[in-house]
Amino acid sequence: MSTVPAPALVDRYRTRAPRYTSYPTAPQFRPIAEDELREPLSRGEGPVALYVHVPFCQRLCHYCGCHVEIRKNRDLGAEYVDSVLREAALWRAYQQPGRKLGQLALGGGTPTFLRSEYLSRLVAGLAGLWPLGPGAELSIEVDPRTVSSEELEALPKIGFTRVNLGVQDVDETVLAAVNRPQPFPLVGQAFSTLRGAGLAQVGVDLVYGLPAQTEESFGATLDAVATLRPTRIALFQYAHVPWLKPQQKLIERFARPDSDGRTRMWALAREKLGGAGYVEVGMDHFALPGDELVLALQNGSLQRNFEGYTTHAGHDLLGLGVSAIGGFDGAYAQNTKDRERYGARVGEGKLAVERGLLLTADDIARRRVIMSLFCNFTVDLGDADYAEELSRLERFVEDGLVTIDGSRVSVTPNGRFFIRNVCAVFDRYLEADVATRRYSETA
Ligand code: SF4
Repeated sequence: MSTVPAPALVDRYRTRAPRYTSYPTAPQFRPIAEDELREPLSRGEGPVALYVHVPFCQRLCHYCGCHVEIRKNRDLGAEYVDSVLREAALWRAYQQPGRKLGQLALGGGTPTFLRSEYLSRLVAGLAGLWPLGPGAELSIEVDPRTVSSEELEALPKIGFTRVNLGVQDVDETVLAAVNRPQPFPLVGQAFSTLRGAGLAQVGVDLVYGLPAQTEESFGATLDAVATLRPTRIALFQYAHVPWLKPQQKLIERFARPDSDGRTRMWALAREKLGGAGYVEVGMDHFALPGDELVLALQNGSLQRNFEGYTTHAGHDLLGLGVSAIGGFDGAYAQNTKDRERYGARVGEGKLAVERGLLLTADDIARRRVIMSLFCNFTVDLGDADYAEELSRLERFVEDGLVTIDGSRVSVTPNGRFFIRNVCAVFDRYLEADVATRRYSETA
């Protein structure tokens, strides 16, 4: 059942806060040397998760918040794959032998900028370093506008088990306002081709809060997308951060939904997708019953990492490619965002890591609290001393957003919209960050 948070509450709690795909968050990273990562890398055991960032896109969407390079020449992909495989071998050399691949995710940018032959070489090369473990999940983000039927059909043959289609919206006015022309039939065709090729796990990304979007148009988008029965729907709030992403200034001439409008769209999505049989997973995902995300939610193993929600609990995650972030055994590491520098570094046989962090015991304890709240909306604080945080949660309790029962903190159904605010209470770095306006608004 959908609950629209009261505008007065939304106003009261509006602030800037992270989406907590990590804790501490990336702005806390500092320059880090390869040698500092040697020990955390060698400690890990069990399956490995890999994220490969492919930075290329053929056209810039004006709402884009990703690290992208606009390029038409798809031949660039060959050299890039060579660099990623060189980098992967460097990471692998630091790890213990015998580790298997549990999860591979290709994101971007547009991973299907890489022609099928390059994707095939990439997957085979990575599987040569980390043999596929049982039930390994290989996923790829696909832009339905720039991929051919043959390329879609090749994906399961290459080994991909899951595809995520970037849809965002289906309304032509909205798509024109963000420079992303994408006729809806293209999306439908991509679904049919993928399913015809035997790929059953097809998800969709949607964005609310875009220019020219209205409650009515977004409702129609939700209805249209639900008819395709994607196994997962990720619903992201548009983050307007033009000081970080200058192209977003280009959409300021269009009216955007205000905070009240965005809140209503979020509630509408919960209502419509719930009515269409989807289960709400965490803050911003929906999945069909039986999907692994739903099972992970039900058995308490849902996790969160740089890609959002994941079922691969506790796996070391290595980030490969330009700007990619990894997190493993008490450390985070982010690669340089400069592609030439990236290629040069790995060509010299050095990791391309530029920034990162070695976590303190306090960081690790707070990460557990924040991730548990983000994934399960509840956490047992145990006997840790969070007296100050508990006193800051009192106003959330008074507003019916949180309950506190002994050491257990739980977010109520009405409080889910404010999950970033609740987690921010446990973020010991946030106060300094907010002053720098690094994050998007919570509502
Ligand atoms: S396709 Fe995605 S990554 Fe590429 S410009 Fe558009 S929003 Fe950004």
